[in-house]
Amino acid sequence: MTEAEPAIVTGPTDDDWDAAVAAVRRLPPDGRVLLVCHVNPDGDALGSMLGFGLGLRRLGVRQIQATFPDPPEVPEPFRGLPGLELLVPAAAADPAPDLVICFDAASVSRLGELADRLAGPGTALVLDHHASNTGFGDVNLVDPAAAATSVVAEELLARLGVALDAGIAECLYVALSTDTGSFRFDATTPAVHEMAARLLATGIRPGDISRRVFDSRPFGAVRLFGEVLGRARLEPEAATGHGLVWTYATLDDLARHEQRPYVLEALIDPVRCTAEADVSCVVKQTGPREWAVSLRSKGATDVSRVAVALGGGGHRLAAGFTGRGTVDEVVERIRVELAVPAPGGGADRRG
Ligand code: AMP
Ligand code: MN
Ligand code: MN
Repeated sequence: MTEAEPAIVTGPTDDDWDAAVAAVRRLPPDGRVLLVCHVNPDGDALGSMLGFGLGLRRLGVRQIQATFPDPPEVPEPFRGLPGLELLVPAAAADPAPDLVICFDAASVSRLGELADRLAGPGTALVLDHHASNTGFGDVNLVDPAAAATSVVAEELLARLGVALDAGIAECLYVALSTDTGSFRFDATTPAVHEMAARLLATGIRPGDISRRVFDSRPFGAVRLFGEVLGRARLEPEAATGHGLVWTYATLDDLARHEQRPYVLEALIDPVRCTAEADVSCVVKQTGPREWAVSLRSKGATDVSRVAVALGGGGHRLAAGFTGRGTVDEVVERIRVELAVPAPGGGADRRG
C-alpha cells in the first residue's frame, strides 16, 4: 500500500478534540485500550504512545496494552523509557479492544498486521502530525503544524485533565526532542519550547535522556558507520542541481559488525551534514531485495513527493519508502524522481 496525497491541511477542530475526549471518557470501568504505533518505531512513535498510556493509567484505566508491528524489538536508545511494561508483541495484542489509539502513523499501511485492530467494533482514535495522513480513524487528531505527535498527545492529556508527571514527561520529551532533531528544525516554534519547559518542570533530566537517546552507541556501530560513510557518494548535478549525497548499508555490513538494524537509523544524520547536497539518502537493507530508504532535504526539495511517488510517505523535508531490487536500481529510481522540478519552498522537517 502507498500513502495517499496530503489529505489534512488544518489541525483538529474543537469537535475533533471533544470527540476524542468523549471516546476516552465513555470507556467502561473495565474498558480495554490498545495503543499502537508505526512499524520500526522511532522516538516520537514510542514516546507519544507510552506517555499517553501512562496518562491513561493515571486516569484510572487499568487494561492498557501498547504494541507495534513485528519485529517486536525496542531500539536500545529507547529501552530506558518509562511505560515499557505496557508493551506486548503484536501477536498478543487484544483482537477486539473497546478503544484503539494510533500514534505517529500516516496510514494503515504503517501498522502492518495490526491494521485489522483499527477496523474492529471499538472506537479508533488517530493521533498524528503527517500532512499525508489519510484520516483512517473514527476520530482523527491530526495536526500537520505540530512538531511531533507528542504535541497532540500532550494536548489531549491536558483536555482529559491528566497532570504531567515525570514518567509521562520523559516519554513526551524523548518524542519531542527526536522529531525536532533536538530542537534544531524549523518546526521548533515557541510553543515547542513552552511544551519542553512544561516537561522539564516535572524534574526530568535532559542531559541523561539525551545521552541515552542520541549520544550512545556500541563501538561496533561506530566502526560500521565509518565504513558506510566511507562509501558515500556525492552527485552535485542530481536533484535539479541541488545535489544528492547517498550511501547504503547491507545486512552483511550489520552482521560483520554484529549490529542490530536500528543502529542505522542514526546514520542519516552524519550523511545529511554534507554541505554540497540538498538531498541526503541512506538505503538500508532489510531483506534479500528489500531496502528501507531514508530521505532528507535541507529545503530546496520536497522529499515527501519523491517518497510518495515510490510508494512511501513522510514530511516535506524528511520522508522514506521501501525500495525493491538492487541498491543501484533503488538509487536510480530516486535520481529519476529528483530530476522532476518541484515548485515552491517551505520549512518543514519532522519525523
Ligand atoms: P525515517 O527516514 O525512517 O526516519 O523516516 C522519515 C519519515 O518518513 C517518517 O517520519 C515517516 O513519516 C516517513 N516514512 C519512512 N518510511 C516510510 C514508509 N515506508 N512508508 C511511509 N512513510 C515512511
Ligand atoms: Mn515516526
Ligand atoms: Mn512523528
